[in-house]
Amino acid sequence: MSGDAPREPARDAAAAGAPALPEGLLHELLERLCPFHLLLDAEGRATRLGPSLRKVCPALRPGEPVAPLLRFTTPREASWRRGAGEPPRGLVVLETDRGHVLRGQLLPAGAGTLFVGTPWVTSTEDLAALGLRLDDFSAADPVTDLLLLLGARAGALADAQLLAAQLQEVAAAHAHRAGHDDLTGLANRAAFTDRLERELRSARARGGSVGVVLLDLDRFKEVNDTLGHDCGDLLLRQVGPRIGAVLRAGEAVARLGGDEFALLVASPRRGAAALADHRAVAERVLAALHEPFVVAGLTLFVEASAGIAAAPEHGSTGALLLQHADVAMYQAKSRHLGVVAYSPDLDGHDPRRLTLLSQLRTAVDGSELVLHYQPLLDLPSRRVLGVEALVRWQHPVEGLLPPSEFVPLAESSGLVQALTRSVLAAACARASAWLAAGRPLVVAVNVSARSLADLSLPEAVAEHLGRSGLPPHLLKLEITESAVIADPVRAQHVLERLRRLGVALSVDDFGTGYTSLAHLRRLPVQELKIDRSFVTGMLTEPADAVIVRTGVELATRLGLRSVAEGVEDAATLAALAALGCTTAQGYHLSRPLPEAALERWLAARDAGHPAA
Ligand code: C2E
Ligand code: CA
Ligand code: CA
Repeated sequence: MSGDAPREPARDAAAAGAPALPEGLLHELLERLCPFHLLLDAEGRATRLGPSLRKVCPALRPGEPVAPLLRFTTPREASWRRGAGEPPRGLVVLETDRGHVLRGQLLPAGAGTLFVGTPWVTSTEDLAALGLRLDDFSAADPVTDLLLLLGARAGALADAQLLAAQLQEVAAAHAHRAGHDDLTGLANRAAFTDRLERELRSARARGGSVGVVLLDLDRFKEVNDTLGHDCGDLLLRQVGPRIGAVLRAGEAVARLGGDEFALLVASPRRGAAALADHRAVAERVLAALHEPFVVAGLTLFVEASAGIAAAPEHGSTGALLLQHADVAMYQAKSRHLGVVAYSPDLDGHDPRRLTLLSQLRTAVDGSELVLHYQPLLDLPSRRVLGVEALVRWQHPVEGLLPPSEFVPLAESSGLVQALTRSVLAAACARASAWLAAGRPLVVAVNVSARSLADLSLPEAVAEHLGRSGLPPHLLKLEITESAVIADPVRAQHVLERLRRLGVALSVDDFGTGYTSLAHLRRLPVQELKIDRSFVTGMLTEPADAVIVRTGVELATRLGLRSVAEGVEDAATLAALAALGCTTAQGYHLSRPLPEAALERWLAARDAGHPAA
């Protein structure tokens, strides 16, 4: 890393009107608002320490290297620690020598790095033993608070300050917590749509055109399948900077998921002229991606397809633009056209998806959705106390389709409410029949983020419980951590109503989001389900092991059950049992099975032939 490199973005941010704060005031704000902050110089020595960090790690002294006392435990930090590569950005996990685990953001700060964290879980001593109370951190997101304060002062202060500028830049994106994509550090879908809506509003006032360019890498799946996911991830990480390097002021890039990226573009012109401007950006980006990538010593040639939709030409809302850009991108991809701008007659040309979508409508109402059930093993008793219901689509032509092929489609088309209800009805009926047959099993149903935002979900759940006669304690709803974060107030409301019905609630994919301890404590849930991406690698990846261990400890401390999914071998199962994890799920025990196969599997287990 060159000494000057990290300064550049700061200067830009300051020039773009970021607030100016005298250094002393900034430090005072950090001191008050971020008790767990740490400022590191370029050599990795602590230059400032927040008051709580001083308590958690008393041996840490300003001016001394932090390395043996504090460890950043996520993989991308490893190379930085070894003295190579750029300092990491974004969400990190930091562990102290005494086992306290903090999660937070790493932000560039001058020639060094600022860590702004919150305690995720303290694993060797209670917070109380440190003289700290949970309420001390109830501002679940210190960065947001800092932003508010910075914003309030911005007008009154002169004197550009590097740290303030950079903090504000990241804080703005971080304002709704999950603003960034963990893998690439780029803005994520939520942050992108937010920014898009803002740009659309200001373009309406100002005139001109705002465009969305959706980019999808061609044959990315081949990279993943042939070279492995690690290589795929390394490639995705290089794509962002490559795109970023050719963007100009006012243009932005985000990763929407998988190998899909989105650009926000703007033009002072309108109509065909504006579209030509947007197309020029898309072509510039595709050209930049054309240069070979070097991943793990291999030279990879990447091509991408791009779809453009612009306001006001193709729609006036962000959702419509994204949808139309997607249609255009699909055209570009299927016909190898590189860049395609949306036009209404393209809409009919997305044969497979449109067909699937129209068929999904009938499938959801009819009998084509089937549930497979995957056993959940209670670790202390080694008994199967429940199953997770996982939906599949028995398509008349395409065969059995996995949820990844149609759940997102349902979510983007408003069909997901019907899907959730259909799965609920089938799962409740099945569990009720098992109960009647003398086999009480808790059935876990996945509730998509969209359904969680549906205020009538609790009524629907009550109705299906009533109709099937299933006692509420035998139904569990799995809600993803990201869904809870997306709209915490609404989620809290719906979850509380569901809880009052007596059904169990579980936070799915835990560890992939940014739930603070304080927030988690307020949620009426009984279970944390640690994401399988951490569980699968916990015996080989130290960072994954830390996340699993702290997840289990966090659950224990909060009086919740902990479920580890993705258990693929006996060694992982044993390690989880040793950690005190309460429940395991995974291929080692059983794959998800159709109802009859599950019953045979359970019977074989009863007869004394357990798989695990
Ligand atoms: P999920 O809720 O995280 O479900 C667990 C997924 O992990 C399942 O994939 C399961 O087959 C897989 N899995 C279980 N054990 C192992 C293991 O040991 N190793 C590996 N590699 N994978 C394992 P599946 O069935 O393809 O489901 C994928 C996702 O689709 C689910 O992730 C869930 O988000 C969604 N989904 C499934 N059914 C429904 C549903 O009824 N409604 C909604 N909204 N979403 C659903
Ligand atoms: Ca699940
Ligand atoms: Ca999961």
